[in-house]
Amino acid sequence: MSKSKIIPLNFGFRGKPVSRPFECEILRSKRKTLALYIKHRKVEVRCPSRASKAEIEEFISSNRQWIEKRLYEESLRDKELLRIEKGGKIFYRARERTIEFKEGRKARILINGDKFIIQGHKLTAAKAKIQVEDFLIDKASEYILPRAHALARHMGVDHKINEIKLRKTKTKWGHCTSQGNLQYNWLIMLAPYSIIDYMITHEVCHLVHMDHSKNFWNLVDSICPNSETYIQWLKDHEHRFSF
Ligand SMILES: [Zn+2]
Repeated sequence: MSKSKIIPLNFGFRGKPVSRPFECEILRSKRKTLALYIKHRKVEVRCPSRASKAEIEEFISSNRQWIEKRLYEESLRDKELLRIEKGGKIFYRARERTIEFKEGRKARILINGDKFIIQGHKLTAAKAKIQVEDFLIDKASEYILPRAHALARHMGVDHKINEIKLRKTKTKWGHCTSQGNLQYNWLIMLAPYSIIDYMITHEVCHLVHMDHSKNFWNLVDSICPNSETYIQWLKDHEHRFSF
């Protein structure tokens, strides 16, 4: 795919008012159709190498409402990103809580209603971040490991587990290899237990079906009904979990 320069396009033509200007990046390739992608507040148009400028503009123009809606949604999401700092907001167990720093010798985290209290000695944002990380890793090993093993035992596949790792990854909540190595992203501990249980189920079921076939989803649903609700919940909220 060849990458062309960012071309700022004006959408004020044909009498339509410009609500907000935005830039589009045009990517030409061997593809046959035009497609739009929005990521990190950038609009990307993928088009056939021979598409004319007028054609591209027409395509963007006819999709303008959708583009603006998506850009707006992205800007809302940016505001919700998790920042571990005094007064910051943390979306913990499906409830937004305010981060408070508390001076104390003992390093610990206290959840009190809408308050997410980080206690430590001479806390800085960097120290607080490490404390939250440790807190989530501890929670993950206390909760995920025994439950994954218990479920695998119940399903008669515990012997297939080689190792269960807890790792913070950028794009995945969980992972399972054919060698029986399961992996969970410990950031999932910020989510409600129903979501965590779904993730545990998903990876353990891969010990039976190493794919996302109908059989796989039937098995997941027999243990964790309504999995699509949990998947959607994750899609809607996962941007609030990374830090
Ligand atoms: Zn999977």
